[in-house]
Amino acid sequence: MRFKAGKSDFYVSTRLIEHPNSYTTLPKDILAEVRKADFTFLFSNKQYYNNYFFETYGHAAIVSLYGWQLLSTLSRNNGIVYFIAELLMLRIYGSFRHDDITGCVFDFRWNKAGIDLAMRNAFVCRSCLGRLSSLKLSAHQTKIIGDLTEILDVVGKASKWNKDIIGFWKSLTPTKAKKTKPTDNPTGSKYDVFLAHNSIDKPFVEAVKSQLEKRGLRPWYDKDNIAPGRHFQDVTQNAIRSVSSTAIFFGKQGLGRWQVVELRSFISQCVDRGIPVIPVLLPGVNKLPPKLVFLNEFSWVKFSSSADEKEVIDSLVWGVTGIRPQ
Ligand SMILES: [Zn+2]
Repeated sequence: MRFKAGKSDFYVSTRLIEHPNSYTTLPKDILAEVRKADFTFLFSNKQYYNNYFFETYGHAAIVSLYGWQLLSTLSRNNGIVYFIAELLMLRIYGSFRHDDITGCVFDFRWNKAGIDLAMRNAFVCRSCLGRLSSLKLSAHQTKIIGDLTEILDVVGKASKWNKDIIGFWKSLTPTKAKKTKPTDNPTGSKYDVFLAHNSIDKPFVEAVKSQLEKRGLRPWYDKDNIAPGRHFQDVTQNAIRSVSSTAIFFGKQGLGRWQVVELRSFISQCVDRGIPVIPVLLPGVNKLPPKLVFLNEFSWVKFSSSADEKEVIDSLVWGVTGIRPQ
């Protein structure tokens, strides 16, 4: 799963949150963002007309944190993460609910104060686990359930000890995140990023490559990237089938053997396939080659002196994975 924070704030224009009016009257820029995502969570402090925590409309849910301080002493952040996990579980499980109050994620909370117990327990009860395992789930869904279970575990651990999940998350060692990274491969591609470069810039590009590997990414780096006698198109055609993003390095020596026309066609193929293109300026280069100014529309990154510049690597990782490093 890949999560992305929304670009702008939203407001509910109705007095109470109503279904579907509050959804259909969302600001236009929010609706445009909602349309792009598989699912959108909108968190509001307004109350629902029926006093629910949430209802869904299409691929969006408005979650109400109204009166939170009366329901739980825990941080709203814990609630937000819990509701995200709960709503995703419900999407897999077709909105199943049970009336017994067990603290299970599938409780129908007749009394909203039950959310406090739910966050501290943050589990799926035995009978629900049984129901889940009897469903015909795809491998993808099974993996998502595994991820949701991990997220719920963290909510439970933080909440049991009255901690805010954000601080608790930060206190966890990053080694765990690193370990899970290589399997985190939402595009199903063999490599995370193709490092297209002029062979003169090899030493620098190799240093960037090892920085990316340290972050758990799998770069595609052809040692003889566009070597003499090999056709640019052969290499790039091969790459385009196995990567989920492309970084194009521009050094002081310019494009080397690359032809502008070939590069343009390669880039437009990436765009057609939805593969992000990230121009990378090497030290000493301050702007893109004049013939490739169209690359300005992509967000580019720039190294000022060395390949281990943390913020630059962060932006590059962000561009590649779509996830902003902490
Ligand atoms: Zn249950």
